[in-house]
Amino acid sequence: MTESVKCAVCGKTVLKTAALSLAHQGQTFYACGPGCRDKFTKNPAKYAKAPKAPSGGTPQKP
Ligand SMILES: [Zn+2]
Repeated sequence: MTESVKCAVCGKTVLKTAALSLAHQGQTFYACGPGCRDKFTKNPAKYAKAPKAPSGGTPQKP
């Protein structure tokens, strides 16, 4: 079974087996390659958006 994930940086769909996983604030994100992984690592706040957008738009505070 091949599962695909979305690159958190460029939005490209990649196979999960080929993607690089990135842990950030308890969530797992994926990058399609080292370049995108580096971008994520340098600026995770820019790319680490919640996979599911909340329908209310209520900001969550930690
Ligand atoms: Zn990418």
